[in-house]
Amino acid sequence: MERLQKVMAHAGVASRRKSEEIISQGRVKVNGHRVTSLGTKVSPADQIEVDGKVINEEEKVYYLFHKPGQVISTVEDELGRIHVGDYFIEVPQRVYPVGRLDYDTTGLLLMTNDGELTHQLMHPSFEVVKTYEAKVLGHVAQSSIEKLENGLELEDGPTAPAQAELLKIWKQPARSLVSLSIHEGRNHQVKRMLEAVGHSVIDLHRTRYGPIALGNLEVGHFRELTSDEIIALR
Ligand code: URA
Repeated sequence: MERLQKVMAHAGVASRRKSEEIISQGRVKVNGHRVTSLGTKVSPADQIEVDGKVINEEEKVYYLFHKPGQVISTVEDELGRIHVGDYFIEVPQRVYPVGRLDYDTTGLLLMTNDGELTHQLMHPSFEVVKTYEAKVLGHVAQSSIEKLENGLELEDGPTAPAQAELLKIWKQPARSLVSLSIHEGRNHQVKRMLEAVGHSVIDLHRTRYGPIALGNLEVGHFRELTSDEIIALR
């Protein structure tokens, strides 16, 4: 935490003395609240406005996270459960997940403080393709793969065409591994689509989000996106 007038001076607003005057004149807001106290301290995450103009744009950061199971896709939890924010406490910026994965779903989750990009990626018209691998009960027939691909009826309406592939089957006990790529993002959509063709999901794992692949990033770990990956996302 640093004194507001020092941060203002560093940002090139005015000298410290002049910045103190500007604060006293009521021309400064911190996180949207007007401040006049010269003792005010701020952190890099606080947004400072002088005469309505933000002076300290936070650096935008982008991370690829391998979400473990039994972790909530939020950055706080009233019940004290483990959430994705717990993995980012060392990161100075406050980063948020781009969308959500279910509590038990593992795999690729993007984390960023770029609200504009998040909003864009989450907008249905952007149609970001997400790829999942689902381990399900039973043997998935080719006719079910075709149904998943053509779109099927869920209780909140028909699904858009998707890409589906049977990757593997286990004989005893009977299980299948299915890859499913969808561009919609309804609640529990993959689980519900597979349930609709008669197969309960045992494990769900996301391997891709648009142009970004999880690769061999270890579970519970994160890495920064490369500049090429950030450009490809836009
Ligand atoms: N579909 C689901 O059912 N769960 C997820 O976590 C993501 C997609």
